[in-house]
Amino acid sequence: MYDSIIIGAGLAGLMAAEELASAGRSVVVLEARSRVGGRLENAELSDGQVVEMGGQWVGEGHEELRSLISSQGLELIDATDGDVIVKARGKVSHVTNSSKPSAHSLSPFELSDLGQGLLRFRRLADRVANNQSWAAANATWLNQTLSQWTTSNVRTDAGRNYIANLIRRAFNVSPDDTTLLDGLAKANAGVDLESLVAVNGDLKQQRVKGGIVQVACNLAAHLGDDLKLSSPVRSVQSDDDGVTVTTTEGVQYQGRSVIVTVPPQLLKDIEFEPALPAERLDMAARVPVGNVIKAFLVYDSPWWRSSGASGQMGADEGAVRVIFDTSDDETGRGILMGFFEGAEASGYGKRSIGLRQRAFEEVVESAFGQAPSSPIEYLDRDWLAERYTGGCHGAHFAPSVWTTAGPILAEPLGRVLFAGAEYASSFNGYMEGALRAGARAAQEAVDLL
Ligand SMILES: Cc1cc2nc3c(=O)[nH]c(=O)nc-3n(C[C@H](O)[C@H](O)[C@H](O)COP(=O)(O)OP(=O)(O)OC[C@H]3O[C@@H](n4cnc5c(N)ncnc54)[C@H](O)[C@@H]3O)c2cc1C
Repeated sequence: MYDSIIIGAGLAGLMAAEELASAGRSVVVLEARSRVGGRLENAELSDGQVVEMGGQWVGEGHEELRSLISSQGLELIDATDGDVIVKARGKVSHVTNSSKPSAHSLSPFELSDLGQGLLRFRRLADRVANNQSWAAANATWLNQTLSQWTTSNVRTDAGRNYIANLIRRAFNVSPDDTTLLDGLAKANAGVDLESLVAVNGDLKQQRVKGGIVQVACNLAAHLGDDLKLSSPVRSVQSDDDGVTVTTTEGVQYQGRSVIVTVPPQLLKDIEFEPALPAERLDMAARVPVGNVIKAFLVYDSPWWRSSGASGQMGADEGAVRVIFDTSDDETGRGILMGFFEGAEASGYGKRSIGLRQRAFEEVVESAFGQAPSSPIEYLDRDWLAERYTGGCHGAHFAPSVWTTAGPILAEPLGRVLFAGAEYASSFNGYMEGALRAGARAAQEAVDLL
């Protein structure tokens, strides 16, 4: 009998396994896919260079992640320096490193309105973080949609549109579909809307040379035979004495606890006995994930840099509204990474890869000008179509869901424990949240022994 059985070899499951194994406990990790990493995955370009199809950016405050990166001897690369292209209300602006939002296409009045809106949002986020009794007393008000809050707190259309666009970029959700409280929680978890107005230098985002998935692979290497790939779990039975976990092929594992790390939207695919409480399943059903296609356009050089552009773009319309330069300076090739998001991802997911490439190219041309030559390669990944993920980047909480049920999502049910980016109390939805939730669940498993 294992001390703990872990379902899923994404960051949360692997972190839980690492913590348990370091505490001298026996674990087995059951992973549905034939690889580890979950929402982290590398793909190879024709020249062998890797690009990251899933999670990629390491942000500020990602302490667990940074500590693993450092202990595994991996190298971090800074985001490319230079101007950021902002496409707002049909105008294209270059935002330079030294310029503040005043360089945008907003009038001074609109800018001051935007600044005040962001300041109010920041103050509210601090209040929610520091004064839980105030948050509890104002739960109903905090459950308004972000769009309602923006309408009553930002006076100008331009300021409102700008904030709505920032919310889409930062949280990967429409302001109509998420609550003020969820937005504030995300801001407190490290997504700073103001920093998105600023430029790369302020974003302080970094990526791992060779791909962040190496963190997962290195953790998995410690598991040896205790990692079972291609082992989708079909059912979890638990009682006072222990748990039995059965794969779709009928292989059974006995343990003293189970740590479930599948994203909430996939809980319904596992048969739990006793059944998960109805409120938990209802909660999982009401936590929709985002919908993103991550795409790469590869050129023989990073030609956009010659005009001072960093390759980063944010737009308030178009098929692709967020672009980053992810070129590898050693190969000399120019690589632009962009996201089709939300409705654009749903629509383009049904079209051909050729049409998606053309749509991405058109956005690049409108932002950075005509490329000197055609791209040499295009590839993308539709995460909604991934059976064992079912959407990305992570879940967001629909109006009223978080205050009514949010905190219970990660609560242990006897010997059944939960971890994963969506079950995290900080950095929810991020790699850092997955790691922290994995470590928390490992401690819960130890406490059960
Ligand atoms: C395109 C994209 C971009 C992103 N960008 C960033 C970023 O820049 N920065 C950031 O911090 N985060 C980013 N994220 C989010 C980040 O990748 C996730 O938060 C994190 O990787 C989630 O880890 P996890 O272990 O919680 O879940 P997962 O990685 O989803 O792991 C769950 C595992 O469970 C397995 N599984 C599912 N069902 C079963 C079953 N029945 N039986 C057994 N196994 C099962 C899955 O195969 C998977 O391996 C991004 C995500 C995507 C998709």
